[in-house]
Amino acid sequence: MKKFIIAICIWFSNNTYAQNWVPGTTYFNNNNYVEYIFGNMPVIISTPHGGTIAPTSIPNRTATICGTNVTTVEDSNTDDLARALDTSLRNLIGCRPHTIVCRLARTKIDMNREINEATCGNATAQTTWYNYHAFIDTARKYILAKYGRGLFIDLHGHGHVKQRLEIGYLLTDAELRSSDAYLNSVTAVSNSSIKKLIGTNLGNVNHVELIKGANAFGTMMGNSGYPSVPSQQDPAPLSTDDYFNGGYNTVRWGSRDSGLIDGFQIETNYTGVRSSTTNIKKFADSLAKVIKKYIETHILTPAQLAQCQATTGIFNLPQGLQKGLFNLYPNPVTGGLLNIQLNKNYQKIILKLLDNKGSVIMQQSFLNSQQIKLSLPKQLKGLFLLKIQTDKEWEVQKILINN
Ligand SMILES: [Zn+2]
Repeated sequence: MKKFIIAICIWFSNNTYAQNWVPGTTYFNNNNYVEYIFGNMPVIISTPHGGTIAPTSIPNRTATICGTNVTTVEDSNTDDLARALDTSLRNLIGCRPHTIVCRLARTKIDMNREINEATCGNATAQTTWYNYHAFIDTARKYILAKYGRGLFIDLHGHGHVKQRLEIGYLLTDAELRSSDAYLNSVTAVSNSSIKKLIGTNLGNVNHVELIKGANAFGTMMGNSGYPSVPSQQDPAPLSTDDYFNGGYNTVRWGSRDSGLIDGFQIETNYTGVRSSTTNIKKFADSLAKVIKKYIETHILTPAQLAQCQATTGIFNLPQGLQKGLFNLYPNPVTGGLLNIQLNKNYQKIILKLLDNKGSVIMQQSFLNSQQIKLSLPKQLKGLFLLKIQTDKEWEVQKILINN
């Protein structure tokens, strides 16, 4: 209980309802380990593994501390690549993507893993992890408010032998080698990180077309001189090839499980892409053109995308999820009904409503849930705290009840 009260104090001092965001401005979290260039395009670029800062105050992630094998390899120059892409998009269409960069080295944190493996329990790393995902969530909220649809790209670098881009839609290499009939089946579609786009894209093309057709992302990159898999030119990895199909971020921020923002992972090869400043700039220019064409072909019309040129003001938006475990709406609550959306399905959830002194007013448990509809007693009014405890982590958020 003492720990919880301390946590509430920290939480009160750090959080606000909303913040002014200015496109083109760079924001940092409190410890400066996460950088967020606030954009005005319906595009989020996340770079989880390009950081190089390695403070001794955060212990190295090891199997001994983490209790599981951890990967600590840096995706070198992917942070520079993200910044170069920001410049290329600005030059190409006068707009900027939302760019989120982890500056901490992967030996200290992994933004593309669930929190325990990501941080090995270190408190500073945990805060940093939540801040990274809160920035992505802020970008998501902005994009949905302005455009209704958008694109999330998790940008990485691989060290595999074959020098090609690996586009990860969460489909395994075996699935990619399966028949077109399978890839267009309900099973394959429900595994895809562009699930929302299938059936709602501008050209009304199917899943196979979207991943390896004439206007698939990999095909467009291939046509620009950057071989990619899957694509029309290279439909699937061989069973003997190394291939990354997407990770935590692609699951969480793409559309496989929910939402209107489609996403995928791009694993870039090193040679000719990240190997020099000149190569990075050249690649970023090609990537920018393909992102524009991909959006205009599948997601938003050229006129809709061009609206980004007019969105230069100051935006007052709720900050993203403070810790990333759950999202509440509506907040303030009216009519006594509160929706709680968790970041994934949990076996066990304990929900507590507390008054502003920390006393528990209401407690309920839920099993095997991701979405909860909560009816609040009519007499409740004012500011309360909602604490959610899952089998792995907990989080508190502020809630205003106007019943
Ligand atoms: Zn990576």
